[in-house]
Amino acid sequence: MSARRAAGRLAITPSLTPRSLEKRGTPAKVWQARIITLFPEAFPGVLGLSLTGKALKEGLWGLEAIDLRPFGIGKHRNVDDTPAGGGAGMVLRADVLGRAVEMTMRGAPEDRAEWPLVCLSPRGRPFTQAMAQRWAGARGVTMICGRFEGIDQRVIDHFGIEEVSLGDFVLTGGELAAQAMLDATVRLLPEVLGNAASVEEESFSSGLLEHPQYTRPAEWEGREIPPVLMSGNHGEIARWRQAQAEELTRARRPDLWAAYQARKG
Ligand code: SAH
Repeated sequence: MSARRAAGRLAITPSLTPRSLEKRGTPAKVWQARIITLFPEAFPGVLGLSLTGKALKEGLWGLEAIDLRPFGIGKHRNVDDTPAGGGAGMVLRADVLGRAVEMTMRGAPEDRAEWPLVCLSPRGRPFTQAMAQRWAGARGVTMICGRFEGIDQRVIDHFGIEEVSLGDFVLTGGELAAQAMLDATVRLLPEVLGNAASVEEESFSSGLLEHPQYTRPAEWEGREIPPVLMSGNHGEIARWRQAQAEELTRARRPDLWAAYQARKG
């Protein structure tokens, strides 16, 4: 509790100390990602670049990669073992991962709506823009990156972990999936992406894929920009973009198109 208050004071006291240097376990005011991984050096990775990277350096959100290795067993800090019942590969041990999860969740709100606890897994629910929106509305998120054949099921059951998939393919580990999902989430934080309108207009936010985009030069390799976009008629432009978005969605994503039409009634 005292640590929590101290963090609160720190967060509102003008200071030159970056928020990222605050002691771990203290819930800072900014949105926080905590990632349990065997490869902490993979972070921030792509998230350290461009908008997300600038915002990270400015302390507008926080990222902490928690190394799973020190939680391992014995001299070699073993984290995995062979699958019960036989078969190929290795599985991350329940006791090792369990200790890491407990330590990582310390100080985070217990309400999972305020702080989701997720595990990257090809068996999880497919990640969507709606999930990114939900996570961006929380105070932070904890993510577990699997490796090898995955993690002991009892950890998932014990902590009630939400399994989330990046798509129907198998990666070597959860780190790339975690970065992709964090990118999608962090750019929705109002303080991170300056231009909020561009978030509202882009693919999925409206339930439709986005219309095609063009910029200079006006003619390239004999191809012109659609004249309506050069007309200056904003009503016409909006109608053209809406029609393009509908046509693209209908042709490429019948699933999204059906959902869009059902919502429109
Ligand atoms: N044997 C597992 C795959 C393990 S892949 C199976 O067949 O389901 C190793 C790790 O990579 C997983 O534990 C998970 O954390 C990560 N991973 C692989 N594919 C993923 C995906 N599509 N989405 C999210 N995480 C994934």
